[in-house]
Amino acid sequence: MCYNKAMSSDMVIGRFAPTPSGFMHAGNLLCAMLAYLSAKSKGGKFIIRIEDLDAVRCPRFAALDIIETLNAFGIKSDEPMLWQSERASVYQAAVQKLACKTQVYPCYCTRAELHAEGITRLPDGGILYPKTCKSLTAENIAEREKCGLKPALRISVPDEVITFTDGICGEQSQNLALACGDFIIRRSDGVYAYQLAVVVDDGESGVTEVVRGADLLYDTPRQIYLQRLLGLPTPKYYHIPLMCDANGRKLSKSEGDSAKRLLKDYGPQRIIGELAFSANILDEPRPIDIERLIPLYDKNKVLSNSELRIKNAELLKG
Ligand code: GLU
Repeated sequence: MCYNKAMSSDMVIGRFAPTPSGFMHAGNLLCAMLAYLSAKSKGGKFIIRIEDLDAVRCPRFAALDIIETLNAFGIKSDEPMLWQSERASVYQAAVQKLACKTQVYPCYCTRAELHAEGITRLPDGGILYPKTCKSLTAENIAEREKCGLKPALRISVPDEVITFTDGICGEQSQNLALACGDFIIRRSDGVYAYQLAVVVDDGESGVTEVVRGADLLYDTPRQIYLQRLLGLPTPKYYHIPLMCDANGRKLSKSEGDSAKRLLKDYGPQRIIGELAFSANILDEPRPIDIERLIPLYDKNKVLSNSELRIKNAELLKG
């Protein structure tokens, strides 16, 4: 694996890493735009990566649609794009490396067992794994395998606080043993977990800054833990507030208009102008090319509000 590609220089490398489980809405586009502007305003490079680990949920046509949409708005990758669906062998090598550093163990717990009464729920909807399978013997494992059970792989976490400073949310601390427990790095269907793939890919691409939605702030200490075990640098994180509509309601993938249709109806410059106005980059919603926003980008101004509201309701019509 060729880790740390960019680390020899001071070049900023930012990225946008969509999961193509649906089409883009205006909020996704704004996130991509901020990631792009943040990197470009520092004279950096910007890359797009397709996080299509789960082939069933992420059809190729949705990924191609996202790329086409981004490109039409002037958001292009400076490097060939990584497609996570093509990288199982790279993730497998990372699992092996992790297993040399700490305990990585098979977990045969079913969904029902994991969601049974008495299991601690986490703020992100997950559960605090009660380490049921951590002490399985080779014999126990052989019995389960004989029955055809397919295990997930979990990584053991220390009872230690991980601290980092987010460029927007400030200092963050989390004890993984309390916040998530031993977590999954490969699912029982063989699909590698997002937490693992994101770390391996950001490392391989030399990503130095990550601008993404605040819904991933809670996951970041897990990613830092994996970076440390794999000997990868930790990028600078900027977790931006979740996008809301004009009434303060959070946008979700299942609602809102497709960015592609917006593009067709209004053209790229008008949408970019509206989004730049929503993000306080422009004082008024005037049509503009994304390149012309680069010198105007100022993270402090963008995030002077605790949330990002799409101001023009037209952009959110379903
Ligand atoms: N693929 C994730 C998503 O579309 C983003 C992951 C990341 O930026 O780390 O929500």
